[in-house]
Amino acid sequence: SKHKAQHGFQFYNAAITEKVHRRSQLENDLRKVLAKKQLQLFYQPQVYLESGQVSGAEALLRWNHPSKEFVSPEEFIPVLESTGLIVSVGRWVARQALMQLKQWREQGLNLPRIAINVSAIQLQKDDLSSFLIETLKELDLTPADLEIEITESVFIDNDVIPKVLQEMHDFGFYLALDDFGTGYSSLSYLTRLPFNKIKLDRTFVNDVQTKASSEAMAKSLIALAKTLGFEVIAEGVEDSQQYAFLNDQGCDEAQGYFIGRPVASEQFIEQIEQFYKL
Ligand code: C2E
Ligand code: CA
Ligand code: CA
Ligand code: CA
Repeated sequence: SKHKAQHGFQFYNAAITEKVHRRSQLENDLRKVLAKKQLQLFYQPQVYLESGQVSGAEALLRWNHPSKEFVSPEEFIPVLESTGLIVSVGRWVARQALMQLKQWREQGLNLPRIAINVSAIQLQKDDLSSFLIETLKELDLTPADLEIEITESVFIDNDVIPKVLQEMHDFGFYLALDDFGTGYSSLSYLTRLPFNKIKLDRTFVNDVQTKASSEAMAKSLIALAKTLGFEVIAEGVEDSQQYAFLNDQGCDEAQGYFIGRPVASEQFIEQIEQFYKL
């Protein structure tokens, strides 16, 4: 059994080496990603539950890796963050999403707004508000056209971020707290930070019919957020029962595969025209 343990250790070591290798490989590839134009945004619709009207779209980053292997944002975004590349990529995302919104409107698709995901590192290392203000001006758009989704984990031990968020709020940007219910933050963040909207995490939404605890959590979190005056959007809505449940609970908006999957801009327009009113 001693032999076995040693063998296990070697295996473990090899697994770590493999992981480190893959990471540095990804890092190398990611350094060239903007120059090589391998990034793409997919768009997922968001709707008002009651009316079924489209309220906006979330832009989600996709990497068309040359090897054609799919690399999930869950894997490559942490690498962008640890290398600082997220600053330039994040600016690209914001600009691309706003240009898309403008183009859709010119084509007659009257999308109310576009949402982007913003990482903690971007708020700390980049003067993102100034960049956004400049880009909006250039494209003849306003801060209300843009929603900024920020995850809860961002706020740990950081005093820069509340200031940046307040500044963005004062400029008129729409701020959404992403993955609500899963982060490390205390509920006091809700009243201390200038959010307009709470995004209920999909882990609660997915299990509302099957897990009593998820149903209770979803109900309570929606009620709490509404009482405090926030708008609430649920993510990860995958079927009509979840949709109906959320509507009954007074949730304002929904996003998820039941409404539409994240797709490239051309398919987004088809999806919308086929199923939704604007
Ligand atoms: P997120 O912001 O929580 O985005 C929602 C994720 O859930 C997306 O995964 C989306 O494709 C997926 N999703 C949407 N509807 C459903 C559904 O009905 N069921 C299920 N099971 N999943 C659904 P994706 O696109 O893989 O993105 C993963 C995460 O990567 C995002 O989570 C976000 O945190 C991050 N991310 C994506 N794009 C960007 C970006 O441009 N910048 C930054 N900083 N982060 C990004
Ligand atoms: Ca998000
Ligand atoms: Ca989320
Ligand atoms: Ca997430």
